[in-house]
Amino acid sequence: RKISEKHDKVFVTGCQDPALETNQPRANAAFVVLARNKELEGVLQSLKSVERHFNRWFHYPYVFLNDGDFNSTFKDEVRKHVSSNVEFGKIDSSMWGFPDWVDHNVAKEGIRKQGDAAIMYGGMESYHHMCRFYSGFFYKHELLQKYDWYWRVEPEIKYFCDITYDPFIHMERNNKVYGFTIAVKELKETVPNIFRYASAYKRVNNITSTNLWDMFLEPKPEKPADELPKDDPKYKKPLPEDILRTEPGAGTIPDVDPESMEGETYNMCHYWSNFEIARLDWFRSKEYEDFFQMMDRSGGFWMERWGDAPIHSLAAGVLLNVSQVHYFRDIGYRHTTIAHCPANAKARQQNRPPYLETTTLDEKKRIEEDAYWEEWDEEKENGVGCRCR
Ligand code: GDP
Ligand code: MN
Repeated sequence: RKISEKHDKVFVTGCQDPALETNQPRANAAFVVLARNKELEGVLQSLKSVERHFNRWFHYPYVFLNDGDFNSTFKDEVRKHVSSNVEFGKIDSSMWGFPDWVDHNVAKEGIRKQGDAAIMYGGMESYHHMCRFYSGFFYKHELLQKYDWYWRVEPEIKYFCDITYDPFIHMERNNKVYGFTIAVKELKETVPNIFRYASAYKRVNNITSTNLWDMFLEPKPEKPADELPKDDPKYKKPLPEDILRTEPGAGTIPDVDPESMEGETYNMCHYWSNFEIARLDWFRSKEYEDFFQMMDRSGGFWMERWGDAPIHSLAAGVLLNVSQVHYFRDIGYRHTTIAHCPANAKARQQNRPPYLETTTLDEKKRIEEDAYWEEWDEEKENGVGCRCR
């Protein structure tokens, strides 16, 4: 089934007047940006876009995180490009890198092998750490403790359309937990065993299928899986003993048929997590923590290259209902090569409110403000804008 049929509808159609929208109270929320000093250019590009299309009106704060130290150039430049408060935090070794319980040599060897196999980012140790951090730790960082919601921002992202309403407030009002704008298929070789563990978590905890779960499943084969010929890829094999082992160690993923599980097969679909608006208390819940622990203990963050996107997505599939997930189909977004263009963009472009932050700016300020944003308006320059050519 199409993503659009599975998920809910837009919160708001067309453009709101941001001056009126921002009269309302804000949510307890922040942007979260994980980055390195060397990514400053890409970060600034993202900030310009976020500010230009949303935060110039709403002024949500930013939290920047890094496993190293941000230098003063990075911090100064960031501060110059945002209209709100910014905090910079360091990630310590309790949230980044190999944990004590893992045999570092085994893990490093696992990563090396993925490099040899030319798996995307497979041989890059820091990428594995990043994925694990975004899967099980970012929401535990001390700078995020005071927030209920987060909106993830990465270097080199771009918003095409003005976002003239407060997505956090609308999510809160509609009892949403997780929001996405793009769903794509994962590279199989990065997650050969991920579904076994997600599925095992579901079974061990007696979670009967949520109505979101089937979004992540290939259509069922005609016959029950254990009645299929043994050489059929969907034949149900008995679960190996060690699949549920919880003792410390890396390399505990059994080398067995990676996909069939109770007759179910992962379709590789996942919400693309570089854009994400979500409730932090969901990540902080016991259920999510247990899910993360089980996934983590398998060693899949090293012995395979599990991304935080399929982790978040499968956790949602196990723990959330369709009604708790919001599809931001109205948000035009691009990161590197993948983009989402909203269907109602043209109408929004035409009804666009004036580029004014508040009515309190005097004439001179307004002109300055306009010039400032026009300069950043790259979309206008190449004629893309909300029209998404
Ligand atoms: P891709 O989008 O999957 O190609 O991965 P990215 O290279 O964009 O990384 C995802 C996010 O994690 C981005 O926000 C990066 O800035 C950040 N990131 C990746 N690796 C590291 C790292 O080693 N240290 C820090 N501080 N951030 C990282
Ligand atoms: Mn990226």
